[in-house]
Amino acid sequence: MTSDPQPDALSLEQRTEQLNAIAAQIKVCQKCGLSKERTHAVPGDGPYTADIMFIGEGPGFNEDKQGLPFVGQSGKFLESLLATIGMNRHEVFITNVVKCRPPENRDPLPTEIDVCTKNYLFRQIALIDPKVIVTLGRFSMGLFFPNGKITAIHGQVKWQDGRAYLPMFHPAAVLRNMAGLKTQAEADMKKLPEIVAEAKRRASERQAAAANKPEEPPTQLGLF
Ligand code: URA
Repeated sequence: MTSDPQPDALSLEQRTEQLNAIAAQIKVCQKCGLSKERTHAVPGDGPYTADIMFIGEGPGFNEDKQGLPFVGQSGKFLESLLATIGMNRHEVFITNVVKCRPPENRDPLPTEIDVCTKNYLFRQIALIDPKVIVTLGRFSMGLFFPNGKITAIHGQVKWQDGRAYLPMFHPAAVLRNMAGLKTQAEADMKKLPEIVAEAKRRASERQAAAANKPEEPPTQLGLF
């Protein structure tokens, strides 16, 4: 795995260059068996400066055809949820745990998740450095809430290292059970603007604290 420098140390131009390079690597990736059956790998879509990153499970039929995430029915539903908070998909970065479609939409295997996240997703997160990560479904949730059960923790924000993590139901699961889950999915999405505002407040407090930190006293030179 390449180890990328911390994003703080990089200009937006450098981050863009590295994220484009990661996307190019994903498109020709052959690190696991999923590459054999894909039409297109799907690196992700959205501004590299986004405050919010949505992470789904893996590309489906339409995503594999188009090379873009969440462009089928699940994507339309995700867009409708974003609209309820006055946002659209072009304001957020959308990607997946695995970047190639698992055949017949089967669950991604642990080895596929491991290799894909270490090589790509975690590097994308480090470089985009979103203030909020929204996990969509259990595979994405499992990366950040290892023992979480989606029915128990959806909509409950976790703060870690200055970033907020919000677990939500996968749009496909909501579409399969609109009567049971739509209201909860909408309520979870409604929390997002306040979470982003809180994340921004915390970031500016951190910046102010760093700016006010007294300079390290010069190291005392020994007498000689
Ligand atoms: N489901 C996902 O998890 N990701 C997509 O990109 C599309 C459907």
